[in-house]
Amino acid sequence: MYDVIVVGLGPAGATVAADLGRAGLSVLALEWKPIPRYKVCGGGLSARIDALLDPGYRDLIEATTHTVRFQHPHAHPFHLRSSEPIAYMVMRDRFDAHLARKAQEAGVRVHDGERVLDVREEADAVEVITTQHRYLGKVVIGADGAGGIVARSLFPGHRGRMMSGFEGEISALDYPRLQAGEIVFDLGAVRNGYAWVFPKTRGLSVGAAEFQGKGKTARQAYDAFLESEPTLVGLPSPCRRGHALPLYGGQPEPPLVTRRAMLVGDAAHLVDPLFGEGIYYAVLSGKMAARAAAKYLRGEAEDLQPYEADIAHEIYPEFQVAARMAWYLYTFPQPFLWMIDRLPGMIERYADVLKGRETYRSFYAKARGEAKAALGTLLSPWQQRNSAKIPESNALK
Ligand SMILES: Cc1cc2nc3c(=O)[nH]c(=O)nc-3n(C[C@H](O)[C@H](O)[C@H](O)COP(=O)(O)OP(=O)(O)OC[C@H]3O[C@@H](n4cnc5c(N)ncnc54)[C@H](O)[C@@H]3O)c2cc1C
Repeated sequence: MYDVIVVGLGPAGATVAADLGRAGLSVLALEWKPIPRYKVCGGGLSARIDALLDPGYRDLIEATTHTVRFQHPHAHPFHLRSSEPIAYMVMRDRFDAHLARKAQEAGVRVHDGERVLDVREEADAVEVITTQHRYLGKVVIGADGAGGIVARSLFPGHRGRMMSGFEGEISALDYPRLQAGEIVFDLGAVRNGYAWVFPKTRGLSVGAAEFQGKGKTARQAYDAFLESEPTLVGLPSPCRRGHALPLYGGQPEPPLVTRRAMLVGDAAHLVDPLFGEGIYYAVLSGKMAARAAAKYLRGEAEDLQPYEADIAHEIYPEFQVAARMAWYLYTFPQPFLWMIDRLPGMIERYADVLKGRETYRSFYAKARGEAKAALGTLLSPWQQRNSAKIPESNALK
C-alpha cells in the first residue's frame, strides 16, 4: 500500500508528489499520457512563481516578459512596462517534464502512459484502478485536470464554471512585429475574454479564451484573431486545439477533501477567473495539499481539512476579487481600458500582483477608490443607455 497515489502529473500533481516524496512518504504518480506530453496552454507564468519553484525551472524559460501590450479595437493600446520580469514563458511539454523529473528525483514512483479508470474510497484505503493495474493507497490526490476522474468518482456535484480556450503554436524564428520581452493581450478579440500572443524560443503561442457567458465564441474568435492580429501577419497558420478551462465558480465553494481524497489545481477549479492563470495556483495548491497530507499521514493532524482551510484562507479570497474585476473588465471593456489608460499607477500596481508583491486583495483595496471615481464618471451614461444593472456581488465595494 502506498502512502499517497497522485493521479495526473501536470504542475499540480508533480508538485504535490515531489513535496511528499521529499517528506519521506511512499508516493505513486500515475499519468495518462507518455511524458513529455503537450498541454493546450499559453505557458505564461507570472513572475511570483519564483517563490514556489526550485531555481532549476529557470532553464526552461523561453522568454521573459517586461512589457504587456493591452489592446482593443475601440481603445488606445497601452503598455504595462517593468524593468523587472512580469512573467516567464515556457513550453508546457518541457516544463511539466522537468517537474515530473523532480518528483522522480524525490523518490516518487512515476508511471506514465497509464490511465486511471476508476477510484474508490473505502474506510481504510483508496483503490485506484488503471488500464494496467489496481493500486491501494492511504490517500489519493486528484491532480488530473479539468473534469478529472478523481473528482467525478469521489466528489459528486457541480464544482465551478467550465469555460474553454483555444490555442496554437506558430513556428517562427523571427517575428518582427513583437518587441523583445513583449506579450499581447487583445481584449476586443473575444467577447467576454481575450486573445493572446506569447513569444517562445521557436515561435509564438497564440490563443483565445472566454471567461464569462456561455463559452461558445472562443473558437471563432481564435480563428478571426489569427486573420486580423497585425503581429501575426506573414507568419504560418498554426493548428487549433481546444481545452477546458475550469474557472473558480464563486461561493459557496465545493469540498476539496474527503476522508482520504484531495483535489488540486484544475481538478479543484483553481483557475483565476480574470485572466485564466492556472499554473501558479496548481503549484501553490499542490504545495498546500502536500503539507496537509504529510501531517495527516504522520498522525500530526486528524484529517485533511487543513488543506481546504488553507485554500479558503489564501486562494478563494483572491479569486473573489479577481471575479469582481473580471465582471467589470468583460462587461465594460472599453470603459475599463479608458480608466486604466488614465490611471497608469493602477496597472503598475497590478503588475505587483503578478510579481508577488501585492495580492489581489491588497491591490483592490488600494485601487478601488481611484477606480470608483473614474468608472463612475464614465459608466453613468453607459449604464443609463443600456439599463445595465451591476449585480450586488460585483459592486465596487
Ligand atoms: C487555452 C489555454 C491556455 C492557458 N494558458 C495558461 C497560461 O498561459 N498560464 C497559466 O498559468 N495557465 C494557463 N492555462 C491554465 C493551465 O493550463 C492549467 O491551469 C494548468 O495546466 C493546471 O495544471 P494541473 O496540473 O492542475 O492540470 P493539467 O496540467 O491539466 O494536468 C493534468 C494531468 O492529468 C492527466 N490525467 C488526466 N486524466 C487522467 C487519468 N484518468 N489518469 C491519469 N492521468 C490523467 C493529464 O494527462 C494531465 O497530464 C491555460 C489553459 C487553457 C485551456
